[in-house]
Amino acid sequence: MSDDQRLTIALSKGRIFEQTLPLLEAAGLQAAEDPETSRKLILDTNDPRVKLVIIRASDVPTYVQYGAADLGVAGKDVLLEHGGEGLYEPLDLRIACCRLMVAGRPDTALVPPPARGRLRIATKYVRGAERHFAAKGQQVEIIKLYGSMELAPLVGLADLIVDLVESGNTLKANGLVPIEHISDISSRLIVNKASWKMKHARVRALVESLQEAVEAQA
Ligand code: ATP
Ligand code: MG
Repeated sequence: MSDDQRLTIALSKGRIFEQTLPLLEAAGLQAAEDPETSRKLILDTNDPRVKLVIIRASDVPTYVQYGAADLGVAGKDVLLEHGGEGLYEPLDLRIACCRLMVAGRPDTALVPPPARGRLRIATKYVRGAERHFAAKGQQVEIIKLYGSMELAPLVGLADLIVDLVESGNTLKANGLVPIEHISDISSRLIVNKASWKMKHARVRALVESLQEAVEAQA
């Protein structure tokens, strides 16, 4: 099999895998194994030319940028943080939908406490948060976290958080409220720029099938 016939698609476990699978199936691709039960990081598909690699959500753009995967599926949040170098983003898959939001305690004043010049914002989404507050002309101090952002305002680590919100139940369970909407988030198909050129016919056919599948699901 010549190299330009092979395709590697990078996916993360959990909601992205679960919600991408039906789209891939509509495009004629089925995973040979379930990544939730298999420990394998490289999965075969029913098409011997196509493999899936299963990686952390935030690593997907990096694998695709360097051509270790030809294609991938990544949340817009992850793409904003990565920056998108070396990638095309040809298709909104309209899956894993949520919102990037500013949230905090219901009594939060949106001005810094007198002892500090700036509001403190805890987040995993540093670039998204910086961009949002810069656009409002507000100088803030960003504290980078890797998870459980909801805790930060409760223990005085930060005044506010920037986090993904779907139903709002996690915020609510921790006594927090949504304060500002930053952007709507969904997952995108991303393509390595060199693969887009070198494997054009193959990649394009897959993008088109996925596009039809997305439209059929809408
Ligand atoms: P990791 O768990 O590896 O740190 P992650 O939490 O971003 O990364 P997932 O929870 O699998 O990984 O989320 C993958 C993508 O799904 C996110 O990048 C985002 O676009 C979207 N997402 C995250 N949280 C939600 C949510 N609560 N509702 C809907 N979509 C979400
Ligand atoms: Mg998560």
